[in-house]
Formats: sequence, structure tokens, C-alpha cells
Amino acid sequence: MTKPSVFSTRPLFPAARAILEQHFEAEYWTAPERIPRTELLRRVADKDALVCLLTEKVDEELLAAAPKLRAVATVSVGYDNIDVAACTRHKVVATNTPGVLDETTADFAWTLLMAIARRLVEGDAWLRTGSWPGWELDQLLGGDIWGKTLGIIGLGRIGSRVARRAQGFQMRILYHSRHRAPLGLEAELHAEFAELDRLLHESDFVTLHVPLLPTTRHLISAEALGKMKPSTYLINTTRGPVVDEEALARALQRGTIAGAALDVYENEPRVHPDLLGLRNVILAPHIGSATIETRTKMAVLAATNVAAIFAGQRPPNALNGDALGL
Ligand code: NAP
Repeated sequence: MTKPSVFSTRPLFPAARAILEQHFEAEYWTAPERIPRTELLRRVADKDALVCLLTEKVDEELLAAAPKLRAVATVSVGYDNIDVAACTRHKVVATNTPGVLDETTADFAWTLLMAIARRLVEGDAWLRTGSWPGWELDQLLGGDIWGKTLGIIGLGRIGSRVARRAQGFQMRILYHSRHRAPLGLEAELHAEFAELDRLLHESDFVTLHVPLLPTTRHLISAEALGKMKPSTYLINTTRGPVVDEEALARALQRGTIAGAALDVYENEPRVHPDLLGLRNVILAPHIGSATIETRTKMAVLAATNVAAIFAGQRPPNALNGDALGL
């Protein structure tokens, strides 16, 4: 029996390729640069399944160009690149990779939080210029982390891991989420629910962990930034458009907040030009989940998801499983 066909927009990792190749005739995009859109549309035209990255849009145009397609797996937990409703209309199962990157991404939110509070990147750059004069009493003074108030927006899988790590720093934790967390989890995390305004007013660090949705686009607007204290730091490891980057650049220029550490941007790979010249911002190139262990797990999970669909099983992470009656 001929195997179904899959196209992957990246060569993935050997462990994920092994799963794909057991179940599919697999083709990969192997060039170092990202696959051009026209090439992607051409390569999926006769495929049964697609494994893609968050940088590739799966929309009406792509689905119309791939009439045989039955499954799409994004190698990411965020799936704002996928029009899930359009997938359902085309009877295509869409999947993501939740759960396997929570701890790693929480680690990175903390990496950014600590680095911006203690001005690590700024200090490193200074040292490399050769002009550091040696220890000084008032040099590169940052903000304390321990004992401060951490505001977590989106207490889901990653947000709750960020909260857990804060306990070692004896921090007070406020969180805001669509729904209140179960009381047991609140108690375990020592996390107190707060309306968004209160969280913005009282937090020394605000860290974002909501998905990108119409309701979260520009959640951190000029108005929201205006509610933060001049000593507050903003950490964004979720999706760029959750923050109004133009408004953030203004707030950082005027010093109405102390600093920001970002892993994600509104128009990746472009970064707002006004941010590039500022010292009170850290700009990371979207590497929140970028460890060898976690990226391998993500690719394996994406491969497992598409393989399950063709084995007649409910994939572990179907986004439209109910809508398609799986
Ligand atoms: P999750 O478990 O679904 O958690 C998201 C949380 O946000 C949930 O608690 C949800 O509340 C809350 N939420 C949704 N809409 C909201 C709103 N309008 N206002 C307030 N809270 C809202 O997701 P996750 O696995 O933690 O991942 C979160 C996001 O992180 C992903 O969507 C992805 O974009 C991003 N991410 C980025 C990287 C990176 O490389 N930088 C890595 C991994 C993930 P309810 O449960 O009540 O709906």
C-alpha cells in the first residue's frame, strides 16, 4: 500500500524524521532560508499532510491550493499562524505542540527578567568596548528582583511555571487570566488573582503569557503602559502583537517604565527601529523554547500528531478535533 505524503517546511530532527518516514513518503524543505510562499503552495499541492513552523501561514489560500490535505501540524504551541476555522471548513485536522515547552519557555522568561533587571546585556556590551574603569559604587544600578511583585498575565501552562520559579525569590505574585485558576493552584503558587488594572499598577515585573488572539492584540497598549510604575519592567515571551511596539518604544524613551525584555515582535523578523537604539531594552531573537531537548520534543510531537491522524487515531493535540468529530 502506498504511504500518504507529508511535506515539512524544515528538515526537523532525526527523531521526528524517523516517525514521519515510518508513516509517510516525506519531503523536506532543506535550504537554509525560509521557504518562499509560492514554493510552499506548490509543494503542498499534492500532499496529504503538512508540518510547518509558526512563520508559515496556513490560511484559506494554502488550503485551497492543497485539495488532498488532511492534516497540518505546527511545531509550536502558539497557533496564530493557522486559521483553524478554515482548516475545519476544509476538513483538515490542525495540531500544535502544547506542554513540551512549558518549563523551557518559563526558564527563558526568567532569563530575560533577570537580565533586564540587572542590566546584564548593557554591562556586557560596555565591557567589550574596553572602557570599563573597574568597580564603582553607583555603576549599572538595576532593580531588585527578590521580594518584589511579579504580575503574570495569562496563568496557563507557561505562566504557572513562571510563577513557580518566583517562589525562590520570595516574590508576591499577582496574576490576571481569562478565568480564575482553581483555588488549589492559587494556593500552591501563592498567586493572587487581580484585575488587569490593579496588576499593572502594583507589579514591579509584568510578564506576558497569553496567546495571540483578537482579544489580546495590543493588550499592552499606550494606556496599559501608562498604568505601570516608572520602576516596572515588562517581559514579553509570548507573541509580539500582544504589545503595541510603537507605544512601548515611547514609554521606554520617556522612562515611564524602567525597561523591557522582549523575545517576540509585532512584525518579525523586523523590530521597531526606535527600540534598537535603546539601552533599557533587551531584544532576543524569538528563542523562548530554543533548547535542543525541547525543540526535539516539539518536532517529535508534531510528527506524532500527523502520524496519529493517518493511523485513524485522535491526535494528541487536535485544535479542531471536536469540530471534525474526531
Ligand atoms: P495556555 O496554557 O493556553 O495559557 C494561556 C493563558 O492565557 C490561559 O491561562 C488563558 O486563560 C489566558 N488568556 C487567554 N486569553 C486571555 C485574555 N484575553 N486575557 C487574559 N488571559 C487570557 O498557553 P501556553 O502553553 O502557556 O502558551 C502561551 C503562549 O506562549 C502561546 O500561545 C505562545 O504564543 C507563547 N509561546 C512563546 C514561545 C516563545 O518562543 N517565545 C514559546 C512557547 C509559547 P484561560 O485558560 O482562562 O483561557
